[in-house]
Amino acid sequence: MRLARSISLRALLLLAPVLWLGSCATRRPDSALLERFEFAQPQMGVPFHIVLYAANSSEAEAAARAAFARIRQLNDALSDYDADSELSRLSRTSGEGRAVPVSEDLWLILHRSQALAARTGGAFDVTIGPCVSLWRKARREKKFPRSDLLAEARAASGWQKLRLHPRTRAAELLVPNMKLDLGGIAKGYAVDEALKVLSDRGLTRALVSGGGDMAAGDPPPGKRGWRIALAWLDATNALPPQFVLLARSGLATSGDAFQHVEIGGLRYSHIIDPRTGLGLTDHSLVTVIARDCTTADSLATAVSVLGPDEGLKLLEATPGAAGRIVRKPGLQMETRTSPRFELED
Ligand code: AMP
Ligand code: MG
Repeated sequence: MRLARSISLRALLLLAPVLWLGSCATRRPDSALLERFEFAQPQMGVPFHIVLYAANSSEAEAAARAAFARIRQLNDALSDYDADSELSRLSRTSGEGRAVPVSEDLWLILHRSQALAARTGGAFDVTIGPCVSLWRKARREKKFPRSDLLAEARAASGWQKLRLHPRTRAAELLVPNMKLDLGGIAKGYAVDEALKVLSDRGLTRALVSGGGDMAAGDPPPGKRGWRIALAWLDATNALPPQFVLLARSGLATSGDAFQHVEIGGLRYSHIIDPRTGLGLTDHSLVTVIARDCTTADSLATAVSVLGPDEGLKLLEATPGAAGRIVRKPGLQMETRTSPRFELED
C-alpha cells in the first residue's frame, strides 16, 4: 500500500532521527540474557522498523520476518493503490446494491472507522477516497480541482454511504463510484498487528513503527518505557526535542509537514475535510497516544480535521488517549495538549 507514498527521501531522513530514538540497550541483571535487535523494511510506501529484545539472533530474526510478513499481508488486503487488494475489489462493488462479506482484518478496520466517523460527525471518513484522488491530482498539477469534479467526488463520499452488516460481516457501498481509503488508520493497525506477532512468540519487549506511527509493547529491560522524541511542526519550527515514554500503547502523528500542495498562496494538506471535500488549510501537527496504534492513528487524523477545541475534547473523551496539537495559525506557533498528555524529562 502506498499510504504515504509521497513522503520524500529527504523528509524521511528528517523524520528518522526525530521520531525514531530507540532506547539504549542497558543491561540489567534481570535481563542479562536479552539482547537488542533492530530490523527495517519498506512496507506500505514507508520504512517500517522493529526493535526487540530477544535471547538470540535466530529467534529475533524469525520473529521479525513473521511480523513483516503480517504487515505485507495487511497491505495486500487494505491497499487502495493495489487494484487487486480486497479493499479495491470492495470499492468496485459500489452502487451495485449488494453487501459483500469481508475478511476479519477489513471488517475490524471498517468497524473501528465507522465508529469513529459516528463519534466525530464524519470528520474521520474512510469513504473520502474520491476526494483524496482529486487532491492527489491537484498536488501533481498544482491546480485547484475543477468544481464539477469536486461535486462528483463529494457525491461519491460520505461515511453514511458505507453500510456495515454485523451479522454477515459484510460491507455495502450505497452509491456508485465510491472509493474507500484507509490511509488514516491502516498503518496504525499494521504496527499493532506486527507487535502482536512478536508477543505471540514471547517477544513482548518490542517497538514497531511505520512512517511515524508506532506500537510499543513492554519496555526495554530495566526501563519504564520506550523513550520517543516527538516531531515538531516542521524543520523550520523545530524546538529542542521533547520526549514521551511509551509502553503497551500506540503513538501516531498526523500533519501536513511533508504532504501538502500550495495553490494560489494557500497550503492544502493531504488530509481532507469531509465537510468541504478540500484539503485542510490549517498548518498543524497532531500527536496522539492511545491504548493501541489503530486508535492513535485514526484519532490523530480525526483531531487534525476537528481542530484544537473539538479535537482535545475528543481525546479527553477517549479512555487512555492523550495528545498534543502544534499549529501555526499566524506567525506564532501555538501548542496545546490534552490533560493526560505527559512529557518525559
Ligand atoms: P494520516 O497521515 O494518518 O493523518 O492519514 C492521512 C491519510 O488518510 C490521507 O493520505 C488519506 O489517505 C486519508 N484521509 C484523508 N482525509 C481523511 C479523513 N478526513 N478521514 C479519514 N482518512 C482521511
Ligand atoms: Mg492517521
